[in-house]
Amino acid sequence: MGDGFLPLTKPLLGDGEWENVRACLETGWLSSAGAFVEQFERQLAEYLGCDYAVAMASGTAALHLALLVAGVQPGDEVLLPALTFIAPANAIRYVGAWPVCIDVEPEHWQIDVQQVQQFLEGECRWAGSELRNRRTGRRVSALLPVHLLGHPCDIDVLRELAAFYRLVVVEDAAESLGASYRGRKVGRPGDVACLSFNGNKIITTGGGGMLVCNNAARAQRAKSLSTQAKSDPHEYIHQEIGYNYRLNNLQAAIGCAQLEQLDAAVAAHRRITTAYNSSLADLPGIRTPHEADWAHSNCWLYSILVDAGRYGCSARELRDRLANRQIQSRPLWQPIHQSPAQQPVQTYGGEVAAAIYAQALSLPTFRGMRDADIERVVRVIRDG
Ligand SMILES: *Cc1c(COP(=O)(O)O)cnc(C)c1O
Repeated sequence: MGDGFLPLTKPLLGDGEWENVRACLETGWLSSAGAFVEQFERQLAEYLGCDYAVAMASGTAALHLALLVAGVQPGDEVLLPALTFIAPANAIRYVGAWPVCIDVEPEHWQIDVQQVQQFLEGECRWAGSELRNRRTGRRVSALLPVHLLGHPCDIDVLRELAAFYRLVVVEDAAESLGASYRGRKVGRPGDVACLSFNGNKIITTGGGGMLVCNNAARAQRAKSLSTQAKSDPHEYIHQEIGYNYRLNNLQAAIGCAQLEQLDAAVAAHRRITTAYNSSLADLPGIRTPHEADWAHSNCWLYSILVDAGRYGCSARELRDRLANRQIQSRPLWQPIHQSPAQQPVQTYGGEVAAAIYAQALSLPTFRGMRDADIERVVRVIRDG
């Protein structure tokens, strides 16, 4: 026991994936025109209970087009959490808009809705029907909340604020498919939501994403923009600049089979989280994650906080110790407001995000993990 490399994540692929990929190869339909793409879109829309799903080559591509179809303009400002993977900040820059980082709350590490409210109330003013940042004079047009690490953010409060301040909400649910918020599936869109099927997500197509919404015009425009915005199917006439962002049939074939496994994957990730929590919660200096009353997390990536003073070493030293035993672990992402690539960037708070970044460590979390794998990780953390 205990031998071999234990990765942070690993997809679980079965007969369904093999059968679908074989069908794909046998028919010769590899491109985005293949039937699995529409099937994947339909099944995902059904799962979430929404009207439209448009398959994309990546979650980042979905975010980019979501901001475009939501009407975010060059020079606008978009609020996002200070702690997240970089993709949503990059997508904001792709459309020529500016991110405004809002700190996260310390309990569940999600965007702090009180600070969102304080920013909108205290830092912005109305100019006619538009909301403007007092300091920059720029129009504030959208919220881009992220459901971080599988745990939902407090989306109802954000949607209320957005309605009051006339903002559009583009939700990044890339990490949180299969989670729910007050009994509703995370990713079921208000305005627009985005998903990712990157190799490390709870279900995967190797690479891929999805834009979901309940608005026919937005869905149609997103699909058009993802396929070079061809306005005439025969003459190759284009009225606007498009992108090559469509998911291909091979990826969708895998996605259809993976989607059937989603509920089982969530159950497995939740079981792994419970096992880690019960083995680590009493350890001085280690803080284990917990769910909000209204949340049902998909427990995508199990992450702890390591207080170096009380535990005896830092999160990064613990990572090295795990690596010496062939166990992969990883700190969270550098907060957006500290990222060199995003400078200069506005930030409202950010101390909580920075403190989490200094102490957080993500541990192996994947459906194929055995109890012995979990025990192996726990033993290194408990006994050194
Ligand atoms: C993975 C991820 C994305 C982007 O997904 P890709 O498919 O890798 O482009 C966006 N946002 C968050 C929070 C993510 O974790």
